[in-house]
Amino acid sequence: MPLVPTDGTLLTLDQISGLVSVDNDGLATVKAGMRLDALGPALQAHGRAMNNLPDINVQSFAGAISTATHGTGKRLQALHGNVTALRLVTAKGDILDCSATSNPDLFDAARVSLGSMGIITQVTTKTEPAKHVHRRVWLDTFEDTLTKAEDNWNKHRNFEFYAIPFTGLCANIANDPTDRPVEPRGPETDSEFLEVLKYLRNLFAMFRGDEFKAVAAYNGGEHAVEQWTRKFPGADDEWVENITYRETREYVKKVIGGWREYQLLYGQKSRLSMLRRTPQSPE
Ligand SMILES: Cc1cc2nc3c(=O)[nH]c(=O)nc-3n(C[C@H](O)[C@H](O)[C@H](O)COP(=O)(O)OP(=O)(O)OC[C@H]3O[C@@H](n4cnc5c(N)ncnc54)[C@H](O)[C@@H]3O)c2cc1C
Repeated sequence: MPLVPTDGTLLTLDQISGLVSVDNDGLATVKAGMRLDALGPALQAHGRAMNNLPDINVQSFAGAISTATHGTGKRLQALHGNVTALRLVTAKGDILDCSATSNPDLFDAARVSLGSMGIITQVTTKTEPAKHVHRRVWLDTFEDTLTKAEDNWNKHRNFEFYAIPFTGLCANIANDPTDRPVEPRGPETDSEFLEVLKYLRNLFAMFRGDEFKAVAAYNGGEHAVEQWTRKFPGADDEWVENITYRETREYVKKVIGGWREYQLLYGQKSRLSMLRRTPQSPE
């Protein structure tokens, strides 16, 4: 079976890696084990870039095309869509060059084949001139994200969103080409807010939904809260009075007080209060 786990032989192509050439039409020939994070800078040195990328860049090029790895963008193909030729070592040991004109059926089958057609050792892919893209991240409600999604797919070169469980919110991400000069990254309020949300979610999971301890850990640190819990295993309100740091003690009272007022006004299902229900922390 080509997919792990296996009792058979598992190969790595880490030693078969590198950019072989980039021709005048921008066709790049790449050794199959080259990781996407190495390919980007190598192409950049020729003024070229792949026209689309997935969310992570640690995959091998052959692994990425073999699984139809894709980015976002309504008008952009998955990575294998740009492949114009590949070299395949079959189970019989034959070395076959495949393209639209040479072994065309095998070429079409092998581009997304999970290793079942043989081992790809080299790939030729279309590239495009390297350019700057402007990335934006913003938060929107789940309902509004869905309502606007079609518009955003039409409007942006790349658009995607991630639902943030238990918050009712989505992180929307768009990338568009820009001629603007590169600027230092400015304050990204929504990205920072997103990180805070993720951290809070993890704290709620770590302290099993106990809002007092999660909020105290946010201010005073996880280790301090673990220590205070070992020392004072009491009930919530009583526990707060035993917090050793005055600042954290006041912080917890202020946040939980504000939270309770918010819940009184807007009900138990106020969005952020749902965070306390997160039992585990994906990613
Ligand atoms: C955190 C994370 C984020 C991801 N994000 C995205 C994303 O945004 N978009 C997306 O589309 N995918 C995404 N993926 C999927 C990822 O791109 C694929 O799993 C990719 O195959 C991983 O590449 P690899 O080099 O690790 O391949 P492997 O896991 O080693 O192999 C994957 C498959 O390809 C075959 N294969 C590998 N090399 C060769 C070769 N040389 N010849 C023939 N067959 C070969 C293997 O037999 C296997 O079937 C993500 C995966 C992770 C873990």
